[in-house]
Amino acid sequence: MNRIALLGATGSIGASTLDVVARHPDRFRVTALTAHHKVNELADLCQRFRPEIAVIADPAREAELTRRLKDAGVGSRVMSGPAALIEAAAGSHADCVVAAIVGAAGLESTLAAARAGKRLLLANKESVVMAGALLQSALNAGGGELLPLDSEHNAIFQCLPERRRDLSRLGVRRILLTASGGPFRGRRRTELASVTPDMACAHPKWSMGRKISVDSATLMNKGLEVIEAHFLFGAAAADIEVVVHPQSIVHSLVEYRDGSVLAQLGNPDMRTAIAHGLAWPERIEAGVAPLNLIEIARLDFEAPDLETFRCLDLAYQALQAGGNAPTTLNAANEEAVDAFLRGRLPFLAIAEVIEACLARLPGTPTEHLADLLDSDLTARREAQRIIARLAA
Ligand code: NAD
Ligand code: MG
Repeated sequence: MNRIALLGATGSIGASTLDVVARHPDRFRVTALTAHHKVNELADLCQRFRPEIAVIADPAREAELTRRLKDAGVGSRVMSGPAALIEAAAGSHADCVVAAIVGAAGLESTLAAARAGKRLLLANKESVVMAGALLQSALNAGGGELLPLDSEHNAIFQCLPERRRDLSRLGVRRILLTASGGPFRGRRRTELASVTPDMACAHPKWSMGRKISVDSATLMNKGLEVIEAHFLFGAAAADIEVVVHPQSIVHSLVEYRDGSVLAQLGNPDMRTAIAHGLAWPERIEAGVAPLNLIEIARLDFEAPDLETFRCLDLAYQALQAGGNAPTTLNAANEEAVDAFLRGRLPFLAIAEVIEACLARLPGTPTEHLADLLDSDLTARREAQRIIARLAA
């Protein structure tokens, strides 16, 4: 029996994970569930999956969760706060940790799972962007394995042979990351000045949380994924190319020196990557509809529009600058996206905030977690100042 801790259980990846897990009661048992502040949703999931541990990150909601579970006769141990998230990630109750918290809030629990040698199913790409090198050393120290859930990185993982971090020895020439182009593909800058959060979150192919949906609309999601690919597979920035593919059927490709290009295809449904990570190296039923190529009929590819969607280039710049620049990029993006979702910032200003932040805080080498957390805070403060000026 594989024991699973699911961090970010009330989100979109959380729901897809529980859907796959529930199809295999003989194989998987959920031993920890965590959420930010949605007590009712978490309590309902606890009633259904009966985990040993239930964590509500917001300590102000702990009493309410305790009461709800007691009334329902659920015996899960209730905990709250940052230390509880780390316990959920690293405790002996789980063999496998699904890191599906959104944003920098997921960093410390992701690192804790890696250090504890768990099988780490990683959706929380922001933690790789913020602290890719630290995460790699935590994985080495813990001796566990990382299975990427991001569909592109899961595809690359599937297209590479064993020992996936030594790309030149494997004869890999390039990694081709596909991007759907998001809801505003084909639009010009002038058409994007007044788009609303709901328009940005209406993704044509994927149904996801609001933060990553906005990231997809700005193409920052692809920028974060370029940095993620760099850290997960040891690929140089120059060897990672982004190709827009509106149908979202080819999830990414690996090009080899001899001219072979391997791709992973499937319907756009996160349950494929989740099932792959949960069962690897075996394959299990994921509930995903079979791919019907005749119905799809054609697969299109085009270059990304870097003038309209400037975030992608900003991410390449941060990766090349190195040190804490990706941490700054991520923090500025989280603040700008939050301001946009709250109606405080126009869509096009998201890139402006990040660019100004990177210009004000050039990358410096960082080794320790404390330094990265400090860089994260500094970048958030700087971003807040820029947002206040732009919103005025
Ligand atoms: P979501 O907003 O739907 O869910 C986020 C989860 O994180 C929720 O359970 C929430 O309770 C928890 N959370 C949020 N803030 C928290 C905090 N401060 N402390 C503790 N918990 C907190 O997001 P999502 O779409 O499921 O995405 C989750 C992660 O997976 C993101 O990093 C995203 O980039 C990545 N991802 C998502 C998809 C997708 O299809 N949704 C695809 C690839 C990668
Ligand atoms: Mg992705």
